[in-house]
Amino acid sequence: VGGTAPLGAIDFGGTKTAVALVDAQGRVLRRLRLDTPARPTPEQAVEHLGRAWEALVADVPAADRPVRVGLTVPGPADAGAGIVRRAFDWGWRDVPLGALLARRLGLPVRLDNDVNACCLAEMRFGVAAGVRDFVWLQLSTGVGGAIVCGGQLHPGAAGLAGEVGHMVLEEGGPPCACGHRGCLEALVSGPAIARRYAEACAGGATPPPAGGDAQGVFRAAQAGDTRAAAVLDGVARDLGRAVAFVANLLDPELVVLGGGVMESLHPWLPAIRRAALERMLEADHRRLRLERSGVGYDAALLGAALLAEG
Ligand SMILES: [Zn+2]
Repeated sequence: VGGTAPLGAIDFGGTKTAVALVDAQGRVLRRLRLDTPARPTPEQAVEHLGRAWEALVADVPAADRPVRVGLTVPGPADAGAGIVRRAFDWGWRDVPLGALLARRLGLPVRLDNDVNACCLAEMRFGVAAGVRDFVWLQLSTGVGGAIVCGGQLHPGAAGLAGEVGHMVLEEGGPPCACGHRGCLEALVSGPAIARRYAEACAGGATPPPAGGDAQGVFRAAQAGDTRAAAVLDGVARDLGRAVAFVANLLDPELVVLGGGVMESLHPWLPAIRRAALERMLEADHRRLRLERSGVGYDAALLGAALLAEG
């Protein structure tokens, strides 16, 4: 690729792992996607990532291989120190995964939290290019967020800013993975959508179709199931309420909605926007745009490549 080595990118997700070679324009040159082992120990994780990487570059001539690797992890991380602070589903605490993987690969590794990396990818390659004040909101198994102020990620005093997923929208609402109840995440994440649909169908004459995940709800809505459509309308309203909070607090120029759930929920963008505008102070005077991610499913992978770029 134009004489420069590609960037090495690893998106180490809670359920899927993607490894890729990416060029400086954000094009994925080759990739491998595989399941993440269930509840890996750090040693198992390093072995899993090491093998995936070796399979990816096996038939790439040595001169064309990346000289650095970027790694995204599904939890809070100390990017400077290469440490995974927490990986909730795996029971990890303070794991120096960057150093461990660097030793396994024989290459420098830079890591960061996947939400921050997605946000960086959106800034470089997506709809937030050139935007100085925006909020990235990510809907998948969980709901994450990142704030960009004046062109910089805003980490907050303890690196915990942007946790939009845990604003409580419904006192005493459904339990959230964080231990509280009624968080945005407990209302609009993939598992939350599946749960809302199952509740909407409970006691009805026709049971919900098998395969009770969020994708099943979207398929049901598309097939004309009015209960599924009503659930997704409710999800859009809740998301709009959250966007209004964010807009009133930060007055961003743009809110980007990304993540796997959004890849299916994007036809509800006008409904999300309506619900947000109804609750926003001075909606007429704001310059807020609400857009679907421009990098889509590859956000974390492209973000990992940007980490490798340094
Ligand atoms: Zn929560």
